[in-house]
Amino acid sequence: MDARAVEFACSPKRAPTFVRGSGATLWDDAGTEYIDCGASFGVGNLGHCHPEIVAAITEQAGELIHVGPTFGTDAKAEFTRRLLSVAPRNLRRVFLSNSGSEAVEAAIKFARAATGRKKVVAAMRGFHGRTMGALSATWRREFREPFEPLVPGFGHVPFNDVDALRKAVDADTAAVILEAVQGEGGVHVASPEYLPAAREICDASGALLILDEVQTGMGRTGRMFAIERWAVEPDIVTLAKSLAGGVPIGATLTTEAVEERFQGSHNSTFGGNALACAAGTAALEVTVRDRLWERAERLGTEAMEELRGLGAPSVREVRGLGLIIGIELRGKAAPVLQALQEDRVIAIGGGSSVVRLLPPLVIPEAQWSFAIDALGRALRDG
Ligand SMILES: *Cc1c(COP(=O)(O)O)cnc(C)c1O
Repeated sequence: MDARAVEFACSPKRAPTFVRGSGATLWDDAGTEYIDCGASFGVGNLGHCHPEIVAAITEQAGELIHVGPTFGTDAKAEFTRRLLSVAPRNLRRVFLSNSGSEAVEAAIKFARAATGRKKVVAAMRGFHGRTMGALSATWRREFREPFEPLVPGFGHVPFNDVDALRKAVDADTAAVILEAVQGEGGVHVASPEYLPAAREICDASGALLILDEVQTGMGRTGRMFAIERWAVEPDIVTLAKSLAGGVPIGATLTTEAVEERFQGSHNSTFGGNALACAAGTAALEVTVRDRLWERAERLGTEAMEELRGLGAPSVREVRGLGLIIGIELRGKAAPVLQALQEDRVIAIGGGSSVVRLLPPLVIPEAQWSFAIDALGRALRDG
């Protein structure tokens, strides 16, 4: 492969090349074993090559891989049924695509076409993807500037600031798009009052509330969906990352009311393909049967207590929800990530000064405590 072709996506220097994965373990091309506490930015809630995902894909591949989205398949019907059985009760319609960005693009298009309004209000430090519409809702300047002009009508307000949100939303606002826990932005959790206030502000102005659960969904935060903790009903929820156990997928869930008001057309050639749907059904079955959100809650809470208890002077704050954990440092995250990698633990950044942990929810306790100990060492030395 032309090495330059991958440089766009891969920032870490001397990143290992992986050849095999199982559970929370990855092996590189020299046979070295790593503990994966990044789970591919939250894709791997079920770990690598979960046997039930592998079996589902293998079986489906021998039956039917894909037919166009205008046709039904058993795999799609079963996945949609299963997804709606766990989804927030008010969301009864599912549009399937192939990534988080695509799920967000659909959400933005649905909101504009259902309300007949133009503006979208997003949050500072928010991340919603890198295609032009999703990127317009994304905050970071480095991600945006080289590609301007972006889609008109987007604005950003400080996260967790109710007054700023109230001021920004008006009679031309189609939607407010938020994360319950800002992942890429450095693991910032919405305050208890923020999402209920966003709901009320949207209701008062007729705007739709889009909740982006691409990173927080499917058990990661200690609930199946993070929004369950705020007891708020969004009009649209976006899902992707771990939804199909590692196979590319995106889903945009909406209410019947949004569907009824939607004037327009939107579709995706590969969206809802049988292979991804079979993987998605298997992933949902494992997550529900093994109640993985409970594991996320317990392992995450214990680890955060332990990390706070270290009292490491290099640490400014430890925050998170379940197994999305951010350790904000007084200095840069890169040296700590490097030290961890030398200890054979993979973690990821979240902005320049935050070390982010997104381990598989199935990570064995011995590997998780090894990783937390390694992080403790790196923080003490850092
Ligand atoms: C990763 C992410 C996206 C984009 O997903 P892709 O699959 O990379 O397009 C969107 N929103 C959130 C919250 C994410 O974490």
